[in-house]
Amino acid sequence: EAHLEAIEKLDGRLNSFITRTPDLAREQARRADEALARGEGGKLCGIPLGIKDLFATKGTRTTAASRILSNFIPPYESTVTANLQKDGGVFLGKLNLDEFAMGSTNLTSAFGGVENPWKYRDSDARLVPGGSSGGSAAAVAAGLVLGATGTDTGGSIRQPAAFCGIAGIKPTYGRCSRFGTVAFASSLDQAGPMARTLQDCAIMLESMAGFDPKDATSVDVPVPDYEAALGRGVKGMRVGIPREYRLTGLDPEIDALWEQGIAWLKEAGAEIVDVSLPHTRYGLPTYYIVALAEASSNLARYDGVRFGERQMRDTLDGMYEATRAAGFGDEVKRRILLGTYVLSSGYYDAYYLRAQKVRTLLRQDFQQAFEKVDVLLTPTAPSGAFGWDEKPTDPIQVYLNDVFTVPASLAGVPALSVPAGLNSRGVPLGLQLIGRDFEEETLLAAGHVLE
Ligand code: GLN
Repeated sequence: EAHLEAIEKLDGRLNSFITRTPDLAREQARRADEALARGEGGKLCGIPLGIKDLFATKGTRTTAASRILSNFIPPYESTVTANLQKDGGVFLGKLNLDEFAMGSTNLTSAFGGVENPWKYRDSDARLVPGGSSGGSAAAVAAGLVLGATGTDTGGSIRQPAAFCGIAGIKPTYGRCSRFGTVAFASSLDQAGPMARTLQDCAIMLESMAGFDPKDATSVDVPVPDYEAALGRGVKGMRVGIPREYRLTGLDPEIDALWEQGIAWLKEAGAEIVDVSLPHTRYGLPTYYIVALAEASSNLARYDGVRFGERQMRDTLDGMYEATRAAGFGDEVKRRILLGTYVLSSGYYDAYYLRAQKVRTLLRQDFQQAFEKVDVLLTPTAPSGAFGWDEKPTDPIQVYLNDVFTVPASLAGVPALSVPAGLNSRGVPLGLQLIGRDFEEETLLAAGHVLE
């Protein structure tokens, strides 16, 4: 009830929820009370959570923050949210995001932008929460929920976590089932937890993760006790500092935070090693080819026939065109156009195929680095949260904000963001740790030292 009241009071301003589900929450809470009274109840029993509105929730509207799905009520539940419910989680509602998870500011939502609960020290300007899981990050940071689900295709858990001063984990590709998650770029999409501490993230991840026969890319490896990994420490751990991430022109405050992180890990007993990921500079262009190609294919299904909004016209093609013209926002249309372009005959070899090859090189970079080190430490994003009015008008400038997060997504390796400090304007900054396939525990152990 306290959380429902907080949402009532604060979310008019933050706009972190697209759909509130107080009745569902009260029902789940009642069942949690009963389970506790019987001496049962999982680790999440009665814990108030928010769900990114990209996860299908049976009987509860699921919009992907798009007009084209604004009336879609799924007849089935995503595996991740089913797992959280099984462990007693209480769902307060569906959280705002960039439309179809495409963006880094949460300003592309058809349901309006999300405001970051943090403010600059010296101004009252509205700040972006980052994106695409901006509603999840803002709701957690404001204390409206204790944890939230996010999805990360190229940084959408890590960057908003950093912008809102919370923790977030993008697990190894295949760790959490994609079943019932609205697809953006299927070879990159991965669900993960967002919460105030890594301990809370670890508890959530244990519940969300696991093999699922309904997702062909789900991996059948046992789910460890992630929480137990937190206290392991970093004595003897080898932490790599990828030299290509030292961008020229990197904000000196971000650089200073990175140095601070290195010092903290060293003090705690880690060994710091200089490493090279030589193909890093191809990460962004590769990501924005692969992700958009897959998006153009995935979004072909929104044709006005099977889902959501339909604009009736006299001909079938006319209906498709009118439905998609009215249903998708500008950023989504831009991506469908670019994705279709790089897949079209004549350009497929020059762009898409080449990007796939570079993707393999990027993965090999990580594999070689992980022969020498256990984890990599980098900043999460090249900036802290900025004002709604400061969002660059050139989309390419916005894409640049993903420079540190996309390589791990392309390689499929796990990565997390921990809140590590504030910049001189008083907004949070995050540090990123990247690890070997399925070594989320090592990330948690190292991340806990930085919290
Ligand atoms: N910001 C990136 C993009 O716009 C990542 C989005 C995501 O991870 N879903 O594509």
